[in-house]
Amino acid sequence: MANAYLCPNCKTNRTRFNIIDQVPQSVKLDPATGSVVNQYNSNEELDPFHIPYNGASKLIQCAACGVVGEEETFIKRAQNNPL
Ligand SMILES: [Zn+2]
Repeated sequence: MANAYLCPNCKTNRTRFNIIDQVPQSVKLDPATGSVVNQYNSNEELDPFHIPYNGASKLIQCAACGVVGEEETFIKRAQNNPL
């Protein structure tokens, strides 16, 4: 089901957006060099102290004013300000 968006910042744009898919890559780095020593292919492989990514699956950028935020804030703004 599609949801209408309204930018919570400029409060006028309902049509032009950039959808940013979040593709997290879990890695373990060498503390001195920052080079990747382990790249995890699934959350099951993570070590016990490594918290899996739990942020938004996608972000939305308003293509009118440029603000970036979670999709929910754009949906809520549209729901609170119906056309
Ligand atoms: Zn905007």
